[in-house]
Amino acid sequence: MRVYELARKLKIPTKKLLDIISKSDISNKVSLSNLSSKEIEKIKNLLREEKPSLKKKLLPRDPVVTFLGHVDHGKTSLLDAIRNTQVAKEEFGGITQRIGASEINFQGKRIVFIDTPGHEAFTAMRAQGAQVTDIVVLVIAADDGVMPQTKEAINHARAAKVPIVVAINKIDKKEANPERVKQQLTKYDLTPEEWGGETICVPVSALTKEGINELLEMILLEAEMLELSANPKGDFKGVVIEGEVDRRKGPFSTILVKEGTLHIGDVLVGGEIWGKVRALINWQGEKSKEAGPSTPVRVLGLSKVATPGQIFIKVKNEKEARRLAEKVAEEKKEGSLSKRERLTLESIFGPEKKEKSLSIVLKTDTQGSLKAVSDTLKSLEEKDVKVNILHQGIGEVNKSDVLLASTASSIIISFNVEVSNEINLLAKEEGVEIRKYRTIYEIIDDIKLAVKGLLEPVYKEELVGKAQVRETFKIPKVGIVAGCYVMEGKVLRGSRAKVIRDKEVVGEGRIVSLKRFNQDVNEVSTGLECGINVQGPGEVQKGDIIEVYHRQRVE
Ligand code: GDP
Repeated sequence: MRVYELARKLKIPTKKLLDIISKSDISNKVSLSNLSSKEIEKIKNLLREEKPSLKKKLLPRDPVVTFLGHVDHGKTSLLDAIRNTQVAKEEFGGITQRIGASEINFQGKRIVFIDTPGHEAFTAMRAQGAQVTDIVVLVIAADDGVMPQTKEAINHARAAKVPIVVAINKIDKKEANPERVKQQLTKYDLTPEEWGGETICVPVSALTKEGINELLEMILLEAEMLELSANPKGDFKGVVIEGEVDRRKGPFSTILVKEGTLHIGDVLVGGEIWGKVRALINWQGEKSKEAGPSTPVRVLGLSKVATPGQIFIKVKNEKEARRLAEKVAEEKKEGSLSKRERLTLESIFGPEKKEKSLSIVLKTDTQGSLKAVSDTLKSLEEKDVKVNILHQGIGEVNKSDVLLASTASSIIISFNVEVSNEINLLAKEEGVEIRKYRTIYEIIDDIKLAVKGLLEPVYKEELVGKAQVRETFKIPKVGIVAGCYVMEGKVLRGSRAKVIRDKEVVGEGRIVSLKRFNQDVNEVSTGLECGINVQGPGEVQKGDIIEVYHRQRVE
């Protein structure tokens, strides 16, 4: 029996079970292999000895799931298949207006699905720091494999630190090759469980409904490991997942409740928008009086349509709400907006960037120039560096161009078209670089340089210091931290390091943390002690020498 199967049988979270196992003398590799009956008995005994944990105020909450993936790989079809199989016909059939989310009941548990937002909206939500999703289901068509937007989705999920469950879809197709998909996934650090990795991959077909139940089971399993919780009695906090204007009813927004419970009559404020909740509509289009954690509801009564990702909180009264909203509006006017790091040509092509593709969103003034510029850009490709025109069009650079560029870490090239102040601001906020050109020659010069920058650079290494490992400490979630003495030169945070044992290099990595007496520092000089965490080289041992290098690029 596998660990997660046992966890389900014992009705405890898999994470907890793994914790117990890792603290015992049972091998901690069991997650990948089969547990023998003897081991199971041992685990059960250990569990009995565990003291019942203290009751928390936080209560378990249901998982919120988003489907991401390449266009046409079947996100919508899968969501529909899940709804159709899991939601009773009369329930589902009665829905006249969708609210951007739905709920199902599976094996007695509720799962909330957010309608595929598209990566744009996902990014917009993330940019505002709103975590809507607990789990991303990455949909990959078995006949097509990993495609550009699949990679994008992986990056987005990673950046948001959301676990990924892979659904390999369209397995009913003759050309389907799920094994190839798994092979491709290993390249993105998503090694399937059955291959010794940690990624759950479920082969499914939205068409025949094969594998849908397994997919839902795996979602519940993943959710269980996350131990999601919220306090329904706490202060209300919710995130907007969709907003629209209804001709008759005015603006409304769908809010997903993160904390607390939302009631009719509550006064909410989010950014510049505020209002008293006039009505709440659940995902089935019915009026409800309240909505608890992990519940999506359409909220009527707010002053304007809110954008996805906007966080709303409850305040005492309308006066307070108006005051807060006005303050935000003022701050916005003053323009203290840019927080995110700019995504510039330089940072995309900096020496550490592994991606060998230059992504571009291209906007030009005429059809003729569009063709000319895109052909020119393509001709600048080199063997190892692809020029990837994500999107091209005629006309001014608009909001959607910026969001797309932000999602895909790409730059925008505007050729003989205007860029409004508003768009410049948004680009700044999103950290996207807009490059403006008037002639093709300027483009050629610039992009040639950029492509060169993307080619494998050559580095020269320069030794800057040496430290001796005197002690090692295992720190949960961080790994091994080496207590060191700096013998010569200095140790720099962020530098590359080699681990030397018996005069041989046993590993290489990067110094991800450098501390002196629990304080993070950037450098430590000769004769001083420090704590070093090198990521990458495997185990560092007492007596090892850590050599610190500075890498310099050779043109
Ligand atoms: P999305 O863009 O990811 O939302 O993809 P859709 O759900 O719109 O599906 C794209 C196309 O693939 C549609 O024509 C679907 O009918 C088809 N499709 C989706 N899932 C399956 C499947 O499991 N098997 C087959 N044969 N076709 C599928």
